[in-house]
Amino acid sequence: MLEEDFGLVQLSTGDLLRAAVAAGTEAGRKAKAVMEAGQLVSDDIVLAILKDRMAAPDVAKGIILDGFPRTAGQAAALDGLLAEAGQKVTAAVSLEVDDEAMVARVSGRYTCAGCGEGYHDEFKQPARAGICDKCGGTEFKRRADDNAETVRERLSAYHAQTAPLIAYYDARSVLERVPAMGSISGIRATLADIVGRVSA
Ligand code: AMP
Repeated sequence: MLEEDFGLVQLSTGDLLRAAVAAGTEAGRKAKAVMEAGQLVSDDIVLAILKDRMAAPDVAKGIILDGFPRTAGQAAALDGLLAEAGQKVTAAVSLEVDDEAMVARVSGRYTCAGCGEGYHDEFKQPARAGICDKCGGTEFKRRADDNAETVRERLSAYHAQTAPLIAYYDARSVLERVPAMGSISGIRATLADIVGRVSA
């Protein structure tokens, strides 16, 4: 929705890493086991992959970084990378969800194999069972790391290595805390308000 409404490009380091794993690149081979264990891939690999992608022309209007930065080193590198291009972080959004709710959300989610539309076993089922609302596809997929045990590992990596970035962005006056225990539509509206405000 943010991409459609604001003409921004969403860049997910998780997506970029999964593509590298699928393509069997050297970075992908190194990242695979770490991702399966729910731990963080090294800053060097993540930054190299992101830098490559940020060199493409479609990012000129602005980007939504999803799942990045996840460490203090990544945040500092991002500031440097953006400064080189005369840009800066305009908002850092912290979507705040209880850990147990997070486990339920992540371990129940799946996507349409055709168009990528997201669904959830409990919270967002297709209108007709087994048929994608968006493209009519009938094949769906789940990420290997979206099981409760790995999600708990990912949460502990989050608390140890990523949560300190909340203070980092707060100190730079760009932190936006979004209570995200509510409905999908309510959270969408809050995010649209934030992006509308910072890109005005
Ligand atoms: P995500 O798609 O954001 O849930 O990320 C899936 C997995 O990819 C994570 O559990 C990490 O192993 C790896 N990953 C994604 N983004 C990063 C990042 N910024 N830093 C380190 N590891 C990452």
